[in-house]
Amino acid sequence: MFELPEYTNIAKQINETLKGKTIQSGSLGNSPHKFVWYNRGQNEFASLTQGKTIGKVKVKGRWLFIPLEPGYTLLIGECGGKILFHSVGSQLPKKYHLYLTFTDKTFLTATTQMWGAMELYEQGDELQREYIKDMRPTPSDPEFTFAYFNDLVDELVEQKKRSAKNLLTQEQLIPGLGNAIAQDILFKVDLHPRHPIAELDSDQRAGLYDAIIATVNEITDQGGRYDEFDLYGQKGSYVRIMDKNALKRPCPNCGGEIQKIQYLGGACYLCPNCQQ
Ligand SMILES: [Zn+2]
Repeated sequence: MFELPEYTNIAKQINETLKGKTIQSGSLGNSPHKFVWYNRGQNEFASLTQGKTIGKVKVKGRWLFIPLEPGYTLLIGECGGKILFHSVGSQLPKKYHLYLTFTDKTFLTATTQMWGAMELYEQGDELQREYIKDMRPTPSDPEFTFAYFNDLVDELVEQKKRSAKNLLTQEQLIPGLGNAIAQDILFKVDLHPRHPIAELDSDQRAGLYDAIIATVNEITDQGGRYDEFDLYGQKGSYVRIMDKNALKRPCPNCGGEIQKIQYLGGACYLCPNCQQ
């Protein structure tokens, strides 16, 4: 699944490559299933997108807001898979969930890996969508300061018991982060995924905040994670410290054996020595 760094890179690449292109035809693809969230039928989508021009894309959390000028926003979000630009004469993928052709004969396809939204809104209405209207600041927003993060932890500690992994991956508390990034963040600050956030001292809070920002920036700068694709079909170069391949490697800090646990809806990889 794409997380904030991959979306940030794809948005940047769309702005470099697609901005200003005029849509010749729009289609919702050839392989619909119930986990692709559409809000328009094929014919409606085709007639509303035809002749529109791609504007400057914004990213927030795990969502791309692609203006189709005049008057519409194409919203792609919460997905993994491939969002690909195709040059003139390229072959169309076998399966796709979104297909835009441009008047210069280039085209764009998006194919979700598991689920994801491919929705078209009258401009402004997308901001009322569930998960978007109340979205908290993401680590790439200027509002995501340490003071904000510290207040967020205070607020959450009062509500209920939460762990460090819960803070990083659940309920869109920090939008844009997912299990993949969270594991590297927790490793960098020597925190076990189950560590209660109520027990974080001020140094640990500051360390966690710094690690969130640094990890998001590092993955973005490296073009995303090594197992995700960018707009041009290239894999990123960020190699995760803690993923299934870590089981074969010693801990980079202590040389100890990496452990796999199941916790909060997914596998977690950690060093039991460093992350107690
Ligand atoms: Zn270790």
